[in-house]
Amino acid sequence: MFQKILIANRGEIALRVLRACKELGIKTVVVHSTADADAMHVRLADESVCIGPPPSRDSYLNIHQIVAACEITGADAVHPGYGFLSENAKFADILAAHNITFIGPSGDHIRIMGDKIEAKRTAKRLGIPVVPGSDGAVSEEKEAKRIAAEIGYPVIIKASAGGGGRGMKVARTEADLEVALATARSEAGAAFGDDAVYIEKYLEKPRHIELQVFGDGAGRGVHFGERDCSLQRRHQKVWEEANSPALNEEERARIGGICANAVADLGYSGAGTIEFLYENGEFYFIEMNTRLQVEHPVTEAITGIDLVHEQIRVASGGGLSVRQEDIKFNGHAIECRINAEDPRTFTPSPGTITHFHTPGGLGIRVDSGVYSGYRIPPYYDSLIGKLIVHGRNRVECMMRLRRALDEFVVDGINTTLPLFRDLVGNPDIANGDYDIHWLEKYLAKAD
Ligand code: ADP
Repeated sequence: MFQKILIANRGEIALRVLRACKELGIKTVVVHSTADADAMHVRLADESVCIGPPPSRDSYLNIHQIVAACEITGADAVHPGYGFLSENAKFADILAAHNITFIGPSGDHIRIMGDKIEAKRTAKRLGIPVVPGSDGAVSEEKEAKRIAAEIGYPVIIKASAGGGGRGMKVARTEADLEVALATARSEAGAAFGDDAVYIEKYLEKPRHIELQVFGDGAGRGVHFGERDCSLQRRHQKVWEEANSPALNEEERARIGGICANAVADLGYSGAGTIEFLYENGEFYFIEMNTRLQVEHPVTEAITGIDLVHEQIRVASGGGLSVRQEDIKFNGHAIECRINAEDPRTFTPSPGTITHFHTPGGLGIRVDSGVYSGYRIPPYYDSLIGKLIVHGRNRVECMMRLRRALDEFVVDGINTTLPLFRDLVGNPDIANGDYDIHWLEKYLAKAD
């Protein structure tokens, strides 16, 4: 087992990983920018190293400084959290070259899944259902038209190097296609320095359903069920649940089995999330994230398994603590992402939190790095906490969520809490009847 883990992140996820390390008796080092000197993860860690000024590229993305911090403190492993360097294959390679363990998959696996065309090809080869579309990059208009006619309109043009929902264009007719192809390519080139694009069938009303998987790096793979993350705004997840209100046990076991076998075949090591669009009973692979996800606590709530413990165990060579048959799904869990944002316009609302009071009681978990008097720096993303609620079934979970939202107090800044108080009383949400467009339509109506 590791002696000392360096946590290369900030905010709630740095604290989340720190808690797991403490439970496992592993010493912790955190790195931080000058803007985060007062952060909770810095206060609670065994050691901390300031690695640079506020902009991420000078601190949390500065590989040299982070490796130097490992050398100075004698850390033998790095947990990257999510975002920042968590899906940076070069970072994983550099750590390996310094004999420091990256708590995550190999650089090669990160690379495959980071290229969407390559990822889709790999998924298909591993038996994962994919969205019908082009086999690889498409640059010729004639070829694009032939493929679109074959799969049928509407189609979506996507950037191979894409991320964050950028570089995607929908074409409903052959006339649209010409423009969509040209704009997607130029946007992709500008945003990612790579103008390769591919074509997929555009699904009109899918849900976003993702499978939590784990590989032990030695040919064993398991799945921890699914999460439904269909409630999104501008491709950003807002509310996540496990299990999905749309799946039955048989579908869960079927797609879970396919995903577990795929990570086993790949020789994958650590946590991963295989994301699908789901429509009319069919799953369509869109991407795989090779890291821990923001929404992992809903899976922990229904399985009772600490996924960060598992990541650390696997990375240290200790293997998974569970077999597939040990993983049981109990009740229902919902996570609300509490952002420091105006609940109507979603513009960031940095500033000082004058009062912070979190709900408690059975089935309530709050993951947050903030406290009363904390000043939110303007440099990073606006997530200030996550409320995760568990109940024996979805109805109980929703009742408890409504109560917990009433108790939650964040004064001094705007937060997305009022949005969740609205959502929890909405009949569609109560019925689990929503797709990936539901939230944007709801917000447009409220305007
Ligand atoms: P990114 O990595 O940029 O987030 P994804 O491939 O994960 O891109 O897609 C992001 C979102 O775009 C999906 O959650 C979905 O809302 C939409 N999307 C992507 N592919 C399709 C498709 N074939 N049909 C309909 N919507 C899609």
